[in-house]
Amino acid sequence: MNILITGGTGFIGSALCSRLVEDQHHLVVVSRHPERIKPPVQGIDSLANLDMVFDAVINLAGEPIVNKRWTDQQKQRILSSRLDTTQALIDYFARIETKPHVFISGSAIGYYGTGRTNDPIDETGAGDDSFSSQICRQWEAIALKAEPMGIRTCLLRTGVVLGNGGALAKMLTPFKLGAGGRMGSGTQWMSWIHIRDLIGIILYCIEHDGIQGPVNGTAPGPVTNQQFTKALGRVLNRPTIFPMPAAAIKLLMGQMGEELLLAGKKILPRKIQDAGYAFLFEDLEEALADVV
Ligand code: NDP
Repeated sequence: MNILITGGTGFIGSALCSRLVEDQHHLVVVSRHPERIKPPVQGIDSLANLDMVFDAVINLAGEPIVNKRWTDQQKQRILSSRLDTTQALIDYFARIETKPHVFISGSAIGYYGTGRTNDPIDETGAGDDSFSSQICRQWEAIALKAEPMGIRTCLLRTGVVLGNGGALAKMLTPFKLGAGGRMGSGTQWMSWIHIRDLIGIILYCIEHDGIQGPVNGTAPGPVTNQQFTKALGRVLNRPTIFPMPAAAIKLLMGQMGEELLLAGKKILPRKIQDAGYAFLFEDLEEALADVV
Protein backbone atom coordinates (compact mmCIF):
# COMPACT_ATOMS: atom_id res chain seq x y z
CA MET A 1 0.00 0.00 0.00
CA ASN A 2 1.03 3.62 -0.46
CA ILE A 3 0.55 5.43 2.84
CA LEU A 4 0.90 9.16 3.57
CA ILE A 5 1.70 10.12 7.18
CA THR A 6 1.96 13.40 9.08
CA GLY A 7 3.77 13.30 12.44
CA GLY A 8 5.67 10.24 11.21
CA THR A 9 8.83 11.44 12.95
CA GLY A 10 7.23 11.56 16.42
CA PHE A 11 7.03 9.07 19.28
CA ILE A 12 4.01 7.20 17.88
CA GLY A 13 4.70 7.99 14.22
CA SER A 14 8.26 6.64 14.14
CA ALA A 15 7.18 3.32 15.73
CA LEU A 16 4.29 3.17 13.27
CA CYS A 17 6.61 3.84 10.30
CA SER A 18 9.00 1.06 11.40
CA ARG A 19 6.10 -1.39 11.52
CA LEU A 20 4.70 -0.28 8.15
CA VAL A 21 8.14 -0.54 6.50
CA GLU A 22 8.52 -4.06 7.94
CA ASP A 23 5.14 -4.86 6.37
CA GLN A 24 6.52 -3.68 2.97
CA HIS A 25 4.32 -0.60 2.58
CA HIS A 26 5.55 2.48 0.73
CA LEU A 27 5.56 5.48 3.07
CA VAL A 28 5.64 9.21 2.45
CA VAL A 29 6.02 11.35 5.58
CA VAL A 30 5.10 15.04 5.63
CA SER A 31 7.54 16.80 7.96
CA ARG A 32 8.98 20.22 8.75
CA HIS A 33 12.39 18.53 8.38
CA PRO A 34 12.08 16.07 5.49
CA GLU A 35 15.89 15.93 5.13
CA ARG A 36 16.02 13.98 8.42
CA ILE A 37 13.86 11.16 7.06
CA LYS A 38 15.81 8.14 5.91
CA PRO A 39 14.99 5.81 2.99
CA PRO A 40 13.01 3.69 2.34
CA VAL A 41 10.63 6.28 3.83
CA GLN A 42 10.27 9.35 1.62
CA GLY A 43 10.16 12.73 3.37
CA ILE A 44 8.34 15.77 1.94
CA ASP A 45 7.62 19.20 3.39
CA SER A 46 4.49 20.07 1.46
CA LEU A 47 1.49 18.38 -0.12
CA ALA A 48 1.81 20.58 -3.24
CA ASN A 49 2.84 18.72 -6.39
CA LEU A 50 2.34 15.32 -4.78
CA ASP A 51 1.27 13.07 -7.64
CA MET A 52 1.29 9.64 -6.00
CA VAL A 53 -2.01 7.87 -5.30
CA PHE A 54 -2.40 6.89 -1.63
CA ASP A 55 -4.46 4.05 -0.20
CA ALA A 56 -4.39 5.39 3.36
CA VAL A 57 -3.53 8.66 5.09
CA ILE A 58 -2.60 8.87 8.79
CA ASN A 59 -2.52 12.24 10.53
CA LEU A 60 -0.49 12.42 13.76
CA ALA A 61 1.20 15.84 13.60
CA GLY A 62 0.91 18.41 16.36
CA GLU A 63 2.87 20.57 18.77
CA PRO A 64 3.54 18.47 21.92
CA ILE A 65 0.83 18.99 24.54
CA VAL A 66 2.82 18.26 27.69
CA ASN A 67 6.19 19.93 27.14
CA LYS A 68 5.37 23.52 28.13
CA ARG A 69 2.97 25.50 30.32
CA TRP A 70 -0.26 26.32 28.54
CA THR A 71 0.19 30.05 28.05
CA ASP A 72 -2.23 31.63 25.57
CA GLN A 73 0.55 31.56 22.98
CA GLN A 74 1.32 27.87 23.61
CA LYS A 75 -2.38 26.96 23.47
CA GLN A 76 -2.58 28.67 20.09
CA ARG A 77 0.45 26.69 18.89
CA ILE A 78 -1.05 23.40 20.12
CA LEU A 79 -4.31 24.17 18.39
CA SER A 80 -3.14 25.65 15.11
CA SER A 81 -0.46 22.97 14.55
CA ARG A 82 -3.26 20.37 14.57
CA LEU A 83 -6.01 22.29 12.80
CA ASP A 84 -3.75 23.66 10.03
CA THR A 85 -2.16 20.29 9.27
CA THR A 86 -5.55 18.60 9.17
CA GLN A 87 -7.07 21.33 7.00
CA ALA A 88 -4.10 21.05 4.59
CA LEU A 89 -4.89 17.34 4.22
CA ILE A 90 -8.57 18.12 3.58
CA ASP A 91 -7.60 20.68 0.90
CA TYR A 92 -5.30 18.07 -0.64
CA PHE A 93 -8.11 15.46 -0.66
CA ALA A 94 -10.41 17.97 -2.35
CA ARG A 95 -8.00 18.61 -5.21
CA ILE A 96 -6.89 15.04 -6.00
CA GLU A 97 -8.91 12.86 -8.31
CA THR A 98 -8.19 9.45 -6.77
CA LYS A 99 -8.91 9.77 -3.07
CA PRO A 100 -7.48 7.48 -0.37
CA HIS A 101 -9.78 4.71 0.90
CA VAL A 102 -9.20 5.58 4.51
CA PHE A 103 -8.14 8.59 6.59
CA ILE A 104 -7.04 8.00 10.18
CA SER A 105 -6.80 11.26 12.04
CA GLY A 106 -5.35 11.81 15.50
CA SER A 107 -7.42 12.85 18.48
CA ALA A 108 -7.21 12.07 22.18
CA ILE A 109 -9.28 10.89 25.12
CA GLY A 110 -9.04 14.52 26.22
CA TYR A 111 -12.12 14.73 23.97
CA TYR A 112 -14.22 13.47 26.91
CA GLY A 113 -13.21 16.40 29.12
CA THR A 114 -12.17 16.72 32.72
CA GLY A 115 -15.31 16.28 34.86
CA ARG A 116 -14.91 13.73 37.68
CA THR A 117 -16.74 10.42 37.22
CA ASN A 118 -16.06 6.73 37.77
CA ASP A 119 -18.51 5.75 35.04
CA PRO A 120 -16.93 3.94 32.10
CA ILE A 121 -17.04 5.96 28.88
CA ASP A 122 -17.10 4.62 25.32
CA GLU A 123 -17.13 6.45 21.98
CA THR A 124 -20.63 7.80 22.66
CA GLY A 125 -19.31 9.95 25.56
CA ALA A 126 -19.68 13.72 25.34
CA GLY A 127 -17.08 16.50 25.47
CA ASP A 128 -16.98 19.60 27.68
CA ASP A 129 -15.48 23.10 27.74
CA SER A 130 -11.97 22.12 28.91
CA PHE A 131 -9.11 23.08 26.60
CA SER A 132 -8.28 19.39 25.89
CA SER A 133 -11.84 18.71 24.82
CA GLN A 134 -12.02 21.84 22.68
CA ILE A 135 -8.81 20.91 20.82
CA CYS A 136 -10.07 17.42 20.06
CA ARG A 137 -13.52 18.56 18.99
CA GLN A 138 -12.16 21.18 16.59
CA TRP A 139 -9.49 18.78 15.29
CA GLU A 140 -12.08 16.04 14.66
CA ALA A 141 -14.55 18.44 13.03
CA ILE A 142 -11.97 19.32 10.37
CA ALA A 143 -10.97 15.68 9.83
CA LEU A 144 -14.62 14.71 9.31
CA LYS A 145 -14.76 16.93 6.20
CA ALA A 146 -13.10 13.95 4.44
CA GLU A 147 -16.26 11.82 4.83
CA PRO A 148 -18.48 13.65 2.30
CA MET A 149 -15.62 13.16 -0.20
CA GLY A 150 -16.18 9.39 0.16
CA ILE A 151 -13.11 8.80 2.35
CA ARG A 152 -13.73 6.50 5.31
CA THR A 153 -12.55 8.50 8.32
CA CYS A 154 -11.48 7.18 11.73
CA LEU A 155 -10.81 9.56 14.65
CA LEU A 156 -8.23 7.94 16.88
CA ARG A 157 -8.97 9.06 20.46
CA THR A 158 -5.67 8.02 21.97
CA GLY A 159 -5.01 7.46 25.67
CA VAL A 160 -1.70 7.61 27.56
CA VAL A 161 0.67 5.72 25.27
CA LEU A 162 3.21 3.44 26.97
CA GLY A 163 6.41 3.00 24.96
CA ASN A 164 9.98 4.24 24.74
CA GLY A 165 9.10 7.93 24.87
CA GLY A 166 5.99 9.97 25.55
CA ALA A 167 4.55 10.41 29.04
CA LEU A 168 6.19 7.32 30.54
CA ALA A 169 9.70 8.50 29.65
CA LYS A 170 8.99 11.71 31.59
CA MET A 171 7.78 9.77 34.64
CA LEU A 172 10.58 7.21 34.75
CA THR A 173 13.44 9.23 36.26
CA PRO A 174 11.75 10.07 39.60
CA PHE A 175 10.35 6.56 39.84
CA LYS A 176 13.74 4.96 39.15
CA LEU A 177 15.24 7.17 41.88
CA GLY A 178 12.57 5.94 44.30
CA ALA A 179 11.03 9.44 44.41
CA GLY A 180 7.84 8.54 42.53
CA GLY A 181 4.33 8.60 43.92
CA ARG A 182 0.69 9.19 43.08
CA MET A 183 -0.43 12.55 41.72
CA GLY A 184 -2.95 14.41 43.79
CA SER A 185 -5.52 12.06 45.34
CA GLY A 186 -4.53 9.29 42.91
CA THR A 187 -8.23 8.52 42.33
CA GLN A 188 -8.25 10.04 38.83
CA TRP A 189 -8.40 7.47 36.00
CA MET A 190 -5.50 6.74 33.64
CA SER A 191 -6.64 5.19 30.40
CA TRP A 192 -3.41 3.81 28.99
CA ILE A 193 -2.43 1.78 25.91
CA HIS A 194 0.73 -0.09 24.93
CA ILE A 195 2.24 1.48 21.79
CA ARG A 196 2.10 -1.87 19.96
CA ASP A 197 -1.66 -2.00 20.51
CA LEU A 198 -2.10 1.57 19.31
CA ILE A 199 -0.24 0.66 16.12
CA GLY A 200 -2.28 -2.56 15.95
CA ILE A 201 -5.48 -0.49 16.13
CA ILE A 202 -4.29 1.85 13.36
CA LEU A 203 -3.55 -1.15 11.12
CA TYR A 204 -6.89 -2.74 12.06
CA CYS A 205 -8.71 0.46 11.10
CA ILE A 206 -6.90 0.53 7.75
CA GLU A 207 -7.84 -3.08 7.03
CA HIS A 208 -11.47 -3.12 8.22
CA ASP A 209 -13.90 -1.18 6.04
CA GLY A 210 -16.66 -1.31 8.66
CA ILE A 211 -14.81 0.91 11.14
CA GLN A 212 -15.34 4.65 11.01
CA GLY A 213 -15.86 7.67 13.25
CA PRO A 214 -14.38 7.88 16.75
CA VAL A 215 -12.24 4.94 17.91
CA ASN A 216 -10.88 4.94 21.46
CA GLY A 217 -7.18 4.04 21.43
CA THR A 218 -7.02 2.72 24.99
CA ALA A 219 -6.56 -0.68 26.62
CA PRO A 220 -9.60 -2.45 28.06
CA GLY A 221 -8.25 -2.17 31.63
CA PRO A 222 -7.98 1.51 32.65
CA VAL A 223 -6.61 2.05 36.18
CA THR A 224 -6.53 4.86 38.72
CA ASN A 225 -3.40 6.96 39.06
CA GLN A 226 -2.76 5.24 42.41
CA GLN A 227 -2.95 1.79 40.77
CA PHE A 228 -0.67 2.96 37.95
CA THR A 229 1.84 4.32 40.46
CA LYS A 230 1.90 1.06 42.43
CA ALA A 231 2.25 -1.04 39.25
CA LEU A 232 5.16 1.08 37.98
CA GLY A 233 6.84 0.85 41.40
CA ARG A 234 6.50 -2.95 41.39
CA VAL A 235 7.87 -3.28 37.84
CA LEU A 236 10.86 -1.07 38.71
CA ASN A 237 11.18 -2.60 42.16
CA ARG A 238 11.15 0.86 43.76
CA PRO A 239 9.10 2.44 46.55
CA THR A 240 6.36 4.89 45.54
CA ILE A 241 5.85 6.74 48.79
CA PHE A 242 6.23 10.35 47.68
CA PRO A 243 2.86 11.63 46.46
CA MET A 244 2.88 14.84 44.48
CA PRO A 245 0.25 17.10 46.05
CA ALA A 246 -2.39 18.55 43.74
CA ALA A 247 -1.45 22.08 44.88
CA ALA A 248 2.17 21.57 43.77
CA ILE A 249 1.07 20.23 40.37
CA LYS A 250 -1.22 23.22 39.86
CA LEU A 251 1.53 25.62 40.89
CA LEU A 252 4.23 24.04 38.72
CA MET A 253 2.19 23.14 35.65
CA GLY A 254 -0.94 25.28 35.78
CA GLN A 255 -3.93 24.27 33.63
CA MET A 256 -1.90 21.62 31.82
CA GLY A 257 -1.29 19.76 35.11
CA GLU A 258 -4.92 20.13 36.15
CA GLU A 259 -6.32 18.76 32.88
CA LEU A 260 -3.74 16.10 32.04
CA LEU A 261 -2.44 14.87 35.41
CA LEU A 262 -5.14 15.54 37.99
CA ALA A 263 -8.14 14.72 35.80
CA GLY A 264 -8.77 11.55 33.85
CA LYS A 265 -11.61 9.32 32.77
CA LYS A 266 -12.25 5.60 32.59
CA ILE A 267 -12.29 5.13 28.83
CA LEU A 268 -13.18 1.82 27.19
CA PRO A 269 -12.17 0.76 23.64
CA ARG A 270 -15.69 -0.44 22.81
CA LYS A 271 -15.69 0.14 19.05
CA ILE A 272 -12.43 -1.62 18.22
CA GLN A 273 -13.25 -4.57 20.50
CA ASP A 274 -16.71 -4.91 18.96
CA ALA A 275 -14.96 -4.92 15.57
CA GLY A 276 -12.89 -7.91 16.76
CA TYR A 277 -9.49 -6.38 17.60
CA ALA A 278 -7.64 -8.57 20.14
CA PHE A 279 -5.36 -6.59 22.46
CA LEU A 280 -1.75 -7.73 22.98
CA PHE A 281 -1.62 -5.99 26.38
CA GLU A 282 -4.72 -5.89 28.58
CA ASP A 283 -2.82 -5.99 31.86
CA LEU A 284 -0.99 -2.81 32.91
CA GLU A 285 1.86 -4.53 34.73
CA GLU A 286 2.64 -6.72 31.72
CA ALA A 287 2.58 -3.63 29.47
CA LEU A 288 4.90 -1.70 31.79
CA ALA A 289 7.27 -4.66 32.18
CA ASP A 290 7.48 -4.85 28.39
CA VAL A 291 8.44 -1.20 27.91
CA VAL A 292 10.62 -0.17 30.88
P1 NDP B 1 5.15 13.81 19.03
O1 NDP B 1 5.16 15.09 19.76
O2 NDP B 1 6.18 12.81 19.36
O3 NDP B 1 5.23 14.00 17.45
C1 NDP B 1 4.34 14.76 16.73
C2 NDP B 1 4.93 15.19 15.40
O4 NDP B 1 4.20 16.36 15.01
C3 NDP B 1 6.39 15.57 15.45
O5 NDP B 1 7.19 14.50 15.10
C4 NDP B 1 6.50 16.73 14.45
O6 NDP B 1 6.88 16.27 13.16
C5 NDP B 1 5.07 17.26 14.35
N1 NDP B 1 5.00 18.56 15.03
C6 NDP B 1 5.44 18.89 16.27
N2 NDP B 1 5.22 20.20 16.53
C7 NDP B 1 4.61 20.69 15.42
C8 NDP B 1 4.15 21.98 15.07
N3 NDP B 1 4.26 23.02 15.92
N4 NDP B 1 3.59 22.13 13.85
C9 NDP B 1 3.47 21.09 12.98
N5 NDP B 1 3.92 19.84 13.26
C10 NDP B 1 4.46 19.65 14.47
O7 NDP B 1 3.65 13.22 19.23
P2 NDP B 1 3.20 11.73 19.56
O8 NDP B 1 3.81 10.80 18.58
O9 NDP B 1 3.34 11.47 21.01
O10 NDP B 1 1.63 11.85 19.27
C11 NDP B 1 1.11 11.87 17.95
C12 NDP B 1 -0.28 12.46 18.01
O11 NDP B 1 -1.09 11.69 18.92
C13 NDP B 1 -0.26 13.90 18.53
O12 NDP B 1 -1.12 14.68 17.76
C14 NDP B 1 -0.76 13.77 19.95
O13 NDP B 1 -1.51 14.89 20.37
C15 NDP B 1 -1.66 12.53 19.90
N6 NDP B 1 -1.69 11.86 21.20
C16 NDP B 1 -0.54 11.34 21.75
C17 NDP B 1 -0.60 10.74 23.00
C18 NDP B 1 0.62 10.13 23.64
O14 NDP B 1 0.49 9.54 24.77
N7 NDP B 1 1.79 10.19 23.01
C19 NDP B 1 -1.85 10.67 23.77
C20 NDP B 1 -2.98 11.25 23.10
C21 NDP B 1 -2.89 11.82 21.85
P3 NDP B 1 8.02 17.04 12.28
O15 NDP B 1 9.04 17.58 13.25
O16 NDP B 1 8.56 15.93 11.42
O17 NDP B 1 7.31 18.09 11.50
